[in-house]
Amino acid sequence: MSRIIIHNEKVQNVSEVIKICPFGAIEAVDNVLSINAACKMCRLCTKRFPEIFEYQESIVPQIDKSQWQGIAVVAELTEKNELHPVTLELLGKARELAAKVNQKVLAFIAGFHVESSAEELFRYGADEIVIYDDEALKYFRAEPFTAALEDFINFRQPSVVLVGGTVIGRQFAPRAAARFRTGLTADCTVLDIKENSDLEQIRPAFGGNIMAHINTPNHRPQFATVRYKIFPFPEKADSPAGIKIRRTLAPGKLASAITVEGIEPLPEEQGIEEAQVIVAAGKGIKRQEDLQMIRDLAEALHGKVAGTRCLVEAGWLNHKQQIGLSGRTVAPKLIICCGISGSVQFAAGMKGADKIIAINTDPNASIFKIAHIGIVGDIYEVIPALLEQIRKGSVR
Ligand SMILES: Cc1cc2nc3c(=O)[nH]c(=O)nc-3n(C[C@H](O)[C@H](O)[C@H](O)COP(=O)(O)OP(=O)(O)OC[C@H]3O[C@@H](n4cnc5c(N)ncnc54)[C@H](O)[C@@H]3O)c2cc1C
Ligand code: SF4
Repeated sequence: MSRIIIHNEKVQNVSEVIKICPFGAIEAVDNVLSINAACKMCRLCTKRFPEIFEYQESIVPQIDKSQWQGIAVVAELTEKNELHPVTLELLGKARELAAKVNQKVLAFIAGFHVESSAEELFRYGADEIVIYDDEALKYFRAEPFTAALEDFINFRQPSVVLVGGTVIGRQFAPRAAARFRTGLTADCTVLDIKENSDLEQIRPAFGGNIMAHINTPNHRPQFATVRYKIFPFPEKADSPAGIKIRRTLAPGKLASAITVEGIEPLPEEQGIEEAQVIVAAGKGIKRQEDLQMIRDLAEALHGKVAGTRCLVEAGWLNHKQQIGLSGRTVAPKLIICCGISGSVQFAAGMKGADKIIAINTDPNASIFKIAHIGIVGDIYEVIPALLEQIRKGSVR
């Protein structure tokens, strides 16, 4: 990191020097100056008082990027030992990135009896799979899984490591990234790669008001997590084949402070992420009981009910039904947005829908900018009319 060095012995007028900083970052205690965390490195002080303030550039670590090859995907398994669909979405993206820089797609898989899932990785584009199959890896526990990923990275030196932005991925990826003292960008929504293999990691920032472009130019590997349903599901490869490598870890590396007694499966529940049709409600709904018309419409279309954060905060919907930046990402065939303004934070979670229909009284509502069909009207009139048509069989 760069820093400003202060030559306190050259300071003649403390108050005059303090005033130069527009951010109030220069402090004086007993006439000794120091710089606090408010410093923005604007370097105004070094220009105005070069004899007092000296800018010291940090030495940027140099790495040989050619030593880091391959776009790796961390495979995640469900409790049924099947691949989580986010793994396949990531493989599709890895294929695209690898083609741009002429590198291989690598896959890391850890678990117990994972052979058939490992084979599946070839079908979705992996060129090389590194397998850690051990009873100690039967259930996800952060310490042995991180040790396995660390071993994989040391062994294969991938340039990029893509991890699902899931409950497991979020525990796992930062630990591994910290071990390599490298960067990790969470919840990327767009990924691209430069010719020099620098990953262009793009994600919403400042509450979704800007899209931040994040690079890791001086460290490898480059870690990124991506949530489920951000990238499309890839096509299966015509002739899947590749290299399979099995590795083992020393018993000490497989140790964990966590003992899993067993797994109690949650009742099968289809989340909004899986739904083909969604009827989403926003603040245009005036009373909680009015959500019944949203439920009726969803039922008539064999879909699911979801909504904006406002309705979740009001306690009218549960958090699993929230679409958006701080909620779920959905990509249904059809979404009907009822009384939703279309904030960037909401839209970030549903722009991948095939068909967006919006009903809103305000013709200037932002939702109409992304809707394929816009109905300027009152949901209290439009939805009952729509339901009537569906029930009559006029709309299918
Ligand atoms: C960091 C951050 C993260 C966030 N994450 C999320 C998130 O994940 N998901 C999310 O949804 N929000 C999120 N938000 C909140 C977001 O900014 C908006 O406040 C929210 O999405 C607005 O919800 P809404 O569209 O229901 O309400 P409003 O913006 O109040 O819109 C209501 C709309 O209903 C229309 N309307 C009113 N009455 C009727 C009627 N009778 N018929 C038809 N139309 C009608 C109005 O014209 C208006 O356009 C986040 C905010 C921040 C700062
Ligand atoms: S670099 Fe800029 S922000 Fe930092 S102390 Fe100097 S004037 Fe203040």
